[in-house]
Amino acid sequence: MTTATLSTNGSPKAVSILGVDVVPFESYAEAVKCAEETIASRRKTFWVAINPEKIQTALGDTQLRSVLAEADVGLCDGIGVAIAARLLQGVKLRRCTGCDLFFHLMARAAEKGWKVFLLGASPESSGRACARLVERFPGLQIVGHRDGYFNDSSEVVAEVNASQADMLFVAMGSPRQEYWISEHREALHPPFCMGVGGSLDIASGEAPRAPRFFQKTGMEYFYQVIFRPGWSAGVRWRRTLSRLSFMMAVLRETMAGRGNRCRTVASASHAGSGGKHA
Ligand code: UDP
Repeated sequence: MTTATLSTNGSPKAVSILGVDVVPFESYAEAVKCAEETIASRRKTFWVAINPEKIQTALGDTQLRSVLAEADVGLCDGIGVAIAARLLQGVKLRRCTGCDLFFHLMARAAEKGWKVFLLGASPESSGRACARLVERFPGLQIVGHRDGYFNDSSEVVAEVNASQADMLFVAMGSPRQEYWISEHREALHPPFCMGVGGSLDIASGEAPRAPRFFQKTGMEYFYQVIFRPGWSAGVRWRRTLSRLSFMMAVLRETMAGRGNRCRTVASASHAGSGGKHA
């Protein structure tokens, strides 16, 4: 299924960023409504937060590219993707981060009575995230949770299915969580499946959320890269370099696109003037 087929009410058509599709949701409310429709229809959908690192990795990794192509909804998870959309496609994409959408969906799940399964993070973080979420969103039904450090995936799939969850959130880091969802998608019953990276660590309080200023200006990544506990220096560098490579790839593509447009205009005007002289 492609994103274009998600909704019958004209949900936005995906924008391609270096070959990876992102849905231009106007607001979190629109994204939540889209999730609501898929849960009501019981159609299985796979949601992925698309950030510069993921696109950059996918450029050199055909397996990840095909997993991302399988996803039904790609979210504009950060300002880097929004800038790329502007430069490459002339499209204004609003940010719809995986982490913020996760909290919006928790609020709606509590209202609607959707059953939620949380998979991933350490056992302590997973337990604490559940307790805090239930406290923050009264009525939230977390029908199952387990940490993301396991060997037997079939046992986990059986546990998720037995819980009769409507929504499965997988927080095992990228691209591990996307591979896991893709591999077990057929066997998993919940209609809504989404990779949420470090969101459970934020929900549990284990990882700090960036202050408002960083969130509002799209600079949350810079805060995380400095203050996020548990990331080694190597991870911080690898992530930063990957983002820089992504921006370089976007700039190269933008220049190439401009070059092609100039050549097209030049040859069209050349053909036009030839016609006049004939
Ligand atoms: N994690 C997990 N299983 C693993 C490896 C990692 O559950 O085998 C968890 C880890 O405990 C952390 C999350 O995945 O809670 C990764 O968070 P991060 O912010 O690094 O996610 P990303 O930025 O890659 O989406």
